[in-house]
Amino acid sequence: MTDPASRGRYATDASIYQMVVPRSVQDIEAAMEIARDEDVPILPRGGGTSQCGQTVNSGIVIDNSRHLNRVLDIDPNAMTAKVDPGVVLDELNRALKPHGLWFPVDPSTASRCTLGGMAANNSSGGKSLRYGIMRDNVRAISALLPDGSKARFDTSAGSGAYADLVTDMRSLGQREAAEINARFPNVQRRVGGYNIDALSGDDVNMAHLLVGSEGTLAYFTELELSLAKLPGEKVIGVCHFSTFDGAMDAAQHLVTLHPQAVELIDDTMIALGRDLPLFRATIEAFVQGEPAAVLLVEFAEGSAAANAAKLGELAELMGDLGYSFGAQGAAWGGVLPVIDPALQGAIAEYRKAGLNIMMSMKEAGKPVSFVEDCAVALPDLAAYTQGLTDIFARHGTKGTWYAHASVGCLHVRPVLNMRQDNDVKTMRAIAEEAFDLVKHYKGSHSGEHGDGIVRSEFHEKMFGRRIVSAFEEVKTRFDPSGLMNPGKIVHAPAMDDRRLFRYGPDYGVSEFETALDWSAWPGAAGGFQGAVEMCNNNGACRKLKGGVMCPSFRATRNERDVTRGRANTLRFAISGQIPGGVGSDEMAETMKYCLSCKACSRECPTGVDMARMKIEVLAARYKAHGPSLADRLVGFLPRYAPMASKFAWLLNSRNKISVIRKWTEKLVGVSHRRDLPVWSSDPFRDNEAMDANPDVLLFADVFNRHFEPENLRAALRVIRAAGLRVAVAQDGTGKALDCGRTLLAIGAVDEARKEAERIIKATKTFVTAGVPVIGLEPSSIYTFRDEFLGLCPGPDAQALAKLTYSFEEYMVNFPKLPLRPLKQPIYVHGHCHQKAHGAMSPVLDLLQRIPEADVTLIDSGCCGMAGAFGYAPETVDISLEIANLDLVPALNAAPPGAIIVADGTSCRHQISGTSARRAIHVARLLEQALRG
Ligand SMILES: Cc1cc2nc3c(=O)[nH]c(=O)nc-3n(C[C@H](O)[C@H](O)[C@H](O)COP(=O)(O)OP(=O)(O)OC[C@H]3O[C@@H](n4cnc5c(N)ncnc54)[C@H](O)[C@@H]3O)c2cc1C
Ligand code: SF4
Ligand code: SF4
Repeated sequence: MTDPASRGRYATDASIYQMVVPRSVQDIEAAMEIARDEDVPILPRGGGTSQCGQTVNSGIVIDNSRHLNRVLDIDPNAMTAKVDPGVVLDELNRALKPHGLWFPVDPSTASRCTLGGMAANNSSGGKSLRYGIMRDNVRAISALLPDGSKARFDTSAGSGAYADLVTDMRSLGQREAAEINARFPNVQRRVGGYNIDALSGDDVNMAHLLVGSEGTLAYFTELELSLAKLPGEKVIGVCHFSTFDGAMDAAQHLVTLHPQAVELIDDTMIALGRDLPLFRATIEAFVQGEPAAVLLVEFAEGSAAANAAKLGELAELMGDLGYSFGAQGAAWGGVLPVIDPALQGAIAEYRKAGLNIMMSMKEAGKPVSFVEDCAVALPDLAAYTQGLTDIFARHGTKGTWYAHASVGCLHVRPVLNMRQDNDVKTMRAIAEEAFDLVKHYKGSHSGEHGDGIVRSEFHEKMFGRRIVSAFEEVKTRFDPSGLMNPGKIVHAPAMDDRRLFRYGPDYGVSEFETALDWSAWPGAAGGFQGAVEMCNNNGACRKLKGGVMCPSFRATRNERDVTRGRANTLRFAISGQIPGGVGSDEMAETMKYCLSCKACSRECPTGVDMARMKIEVLAARYKAHGPSLADRLVGFLPRYAPMASKFAWLLNSRNKISVIRKWTEKLVGVSHRRDLPVWSSDPFRDNEAMDANPDVLLFADVFNRHFEPENLRAALRVIRAAGLRVAVAQDGTGKALDCGRTLLAIGAVDEARKEAERIIKATKTFVTAGVPVIGLEPSSIYTFRDEFLGLCPGPDAQALAKLTYSFEEYMVNFPKLPLRPLKQPIYVHGHCHQKAHGAMSPVLDLLQRIPEADVTLIDSGCCGMAGAFGYAPETVDISLEIANLDLVPALNAAPPGAIIVADGTSCRHQISGTSARRAIHVARLLEQALRG
């Protein structure tokens, strides 16, 4: 992959990048041979989640995560595992769980970081107090050396050339032992520089030298890891403090109770979390009052009684330290116990999202990583944090603190605008002063994230010249020609060299007209720039399980097909680095597999809404090229549907005659492998509900109206059974109202805007009178709450959005539905837009009103259909792959007589096309359950 978009996705500067996605170790060997011959550097890469610039370089980038991701062996007796370098940590832990084991290094990026990247960065997590860091848990590494030879790095003396390397390294370790002793900080969290302190003593393990080497010494091809027993149930004592200093001072005392973690969250992070829908409920559940900081003290003692005893000791200790919830001022504080595993899980998710939560601020200045993981001894923590806060204040900025209080390694990022020279100078000044402070406390300038570009140049300040010379000697001995990720750890560039920045000195975005309103964000193109730049590249969208984001990546594992890849490509497009910009073929190709599922808008911790951004790409292309025949068929469906339904029998014959199936594929771009939705010869009509003074307006979307009108009719019966008056939303022209979803799907934004305006106008009198508008099809009704605000910004759209509900969100408020029991278990698949709008609870609550109902929400991710996406010949395979990831296995696992419920028209089609099941809308099920 050498095209500008691929290079852009794997780079954050404008270097000469190339990309290799190896399928085997042989492919890596071949790439390294070419690199040697051509004298081009090699950059191994896992999830690309490093924070210090480790994976930024000029050269051949080799992405292990796509194919080199097998768990090779698990030995439950020896408690060891062997893995490919590209295995994602969560995937390994899923494989280990049935054995009662886990890999106990737990960085926040567990959902997407790879074991190779973790080893190369010497990663660590919140439980390092108990389990140590990568170096403590890697037993052996098989690696390719820059000269093309292979070796297994472990405790053995080896043979041949490798034995010579071992001998040389051991003698270097012995020679430097005294200097290492004098200069290396005596804290657990020292990950800066090479681990030359592992090279002396009786139990030298050469793998530990490779750990933390950041791709600069050798290419890891296999890792052997130590495992631990799963800790069992745990409890968290949430210690509240009214002052930040109090929390910092308390940490040294709290660790005496031997918790497995003590994690800090400060008041700024609590406030930011409260603003994010994803975390609001969690914070309300575990934070009491307005603390200046909380420490999450975690115990896993093996039994509920032992855990409870520890919580008792914790409460006593906090009392001894002088804290009580009844007190005022600095003495206010105490412990809130969290026993419920679901809440513990939610807190862990929130804590893990710490950086992203901070990055969710929309201003041009953002919290910047460069002094974010220094570590000091616990007795110095309060003085160190105060000192650093003073440094920030002197430079006119401030930071938010969180993370690993247990080991004195706190994350903090001052807010700076990296597009401005002044702020870059401030960054440098803060770094210099902060590292002086760390040195003063004999701490470590890199306690978790490693060196990369940001920290390497400071090694001499922290370790002294002699140690840095030893680091250089190590590098030269392994890699004399500088093939492997040069400029990291040794011979590093200046950390403030703007040419290496994501926003380099030439970075700029010109003004251009956008189709939607982006004024909530800063920057050019009416704020579109700010919205695109919200992506901080942390890779949360690369998670492979849980939630929905990002279905296309889960199917392809291609960086192009993930929210991050798309955001990076957009950044390149708007800043003139991709010819043709937003409307270019490159951009269209990058968006091709985006299902507009909206999962990112909710699950991306900084709220990157790629479905909305995709509309800009589609709109630009629509403007430039006009609609294709397939586009017309999709986009203008609501316009021709009334006529088409008159020929329902003829159109429906397409599904039965294979020649016509093939013909429709060629002519109109509908895959012959798919059945099309069946036209109803008796479509729903607006006059089917015209109650005077309605309590509610029903929006009849085009899909239910023409393909499954029985759903709308069922909804009417249910609404009326609740004693409510209902009318169908209409504008009196005889032309059905249309939400514009199909028009947005082809980029016909102006037409979609007209439809939105028609709906806003038609419903205005009712909305003004407080009459809500409801709908059955999630992809339609949520456009009222979402896209309408970008299409027609203003008070009318906002008023409608506020009074728009799904059928279930509305009906759940009426408890008196006369329902009879249903015996069969009910399995619910949520539409992505329902999940993105946090609207699944009302669906479940409403179904649970059915007497004896046994309702299960299936963990089904995205169904993969997404309107026209699943029907197009070029996307049908991905659509089916996505369905087969979670939905189809969940359906197959449901009991034979189960009722399957799915509100999305697309979801119901995907279910009938990929399984023996048939799904129905909630309204139909409620209608069946109505008494009388
Ligand atoms: C929001 C956020 C939270 C984070 N939280 C933590 C945390 O809690 N703890 C923590 O320790 N880190 C954390 N990190 C940093 C980062 O996630 C970890 O260092 C992670 O382990 C990197 O894994 P990766 O697969 O993304 O590696 P990459 O970033 O892809 O690569 C990391 C380094 O490994 C090298 N490398 C990759 N594969 C190989 C190989 N096969 N052979 C040799 N070298 C290789 C690369 O060249 C690079 O130098 C966080 C980062 C973010 C963005
Ligand atoms: S899109 Fe969101 S989740 Fe993905 S890398 Fe960017 S900020 Fe993170
Ligand atoms: S809308 Fe869905 S498919 Fe598209 S980037 Fe977001 S999560 Fe991925």
